[in-house]
Amino acid sequence: MHRCMKMEIFDLHADIGMDVLSKKLKGEQDILKTYHLDKLAQGRVLGVGMACFFEGHENWQVAQAMVNALKAELEMNQDRLHFYKGGSLLKDRLNAMITIEGMCFIEDEPEAHLDWLYGQGARIGSLCWNDENALATGVKGNPLRGLSDLGKRAIQHMNKLNMIIDVSHTNEKSFWDVLATSSKPVIATHSNTRQLSNVDRNLTDQQIKALIQKGGLIGLVAARWFVSKDESIQTAHQLALHAAHIKDLGGMDHLAIGFDYMDFLEGNFGRASMASDLQDASQSQNLIQALRNVGFSEEEIKKVAWGNVESFLDKHLSA
Ligand SMILES: [Zn+2]
Repeated sequence: MHRCMKMEIFDLHADIGMDVLSKKLKGEQDILKTYHLDKLAQGRVLGVGMACFFEGHENWQVAQAMVNALKAELEMNQDRLHFYKGGSLLKDRLNAMITIEGMCFIEDEPEAHLDWLYGQGARIGSLCWNDENALATGVKGNPLRGLSDLGKRAIQHMNKLNMIIDVSHTNEKSFWDVLATSSKPVIATHSNTRQLSNVDRNLTDQQIKALIQKGGLIGLVAARWFVSKDESIQTAHQLALHAAHIKDLGGMDHLAIGFDYMDFLEGNFGRASMASDLQDASQSQNLIQALRNVGFSEEEIKKVAWGNVESFLDKHLSA
């Protein structure tokens, strides 16, 4: 009956903050309008976590420049988007959040740095990308090293601010340290299951169960190697099977989406990094159809695509 209807989607993770700064430094303007807003609308993506992404070498000046550049673009496009910092999501335009991926730029006084990020509107953040930094250890860092004392202070302060903690890139030791330290639910904005693709960026069943138990979210990611190690099945269908596995583990109310589209990035990233039928935001409905094809009901798909994130944000950012 509703098979052709597009469904509203909240995408928890797209590296748009990074894209805004890098294009701005090349002299471009109006980057959201030129590169992003139409594609998101075509895929009926009505919510997006715009990530300011830091690989491990960036300093505080760079971090501030990226957040400021993204914030300026968000404020400039208020006619087409809602710069979301909490409260209710709107349904008549894009809800755009500032998120922080990696905090290598914090080497002391995490509270003061986090206060500034929060003040600019950032509402989701991860302490590390794949790197090892003063706060935490990412998947490419020393497996025996987890959170530092400074990192624990950062988690406690994020709890105090109501800034949502993202563990998508942490190594296993940091993951468990974050869960033990945080008094609030924790999310993985863009990670799949190791059961279906055994890579370090994906989550073990034990990790998935722990996120569920703590009331968190798990965002399905369309980066092709996280979908499958078999190149012939790097598709939306295979990604939907990750969703089915998380559902089997009790995660129906904890499933979300964090596509991590890279079509707009240069260098090592790009369209070639994505599942074959999820290459940019305009193709996002392919995952909705794939979820139908693997047996999710319309009500369940609404939860994955939008409802679970909406409830989570309502609960944790409305205060
Ligand atoms: Zn990432």
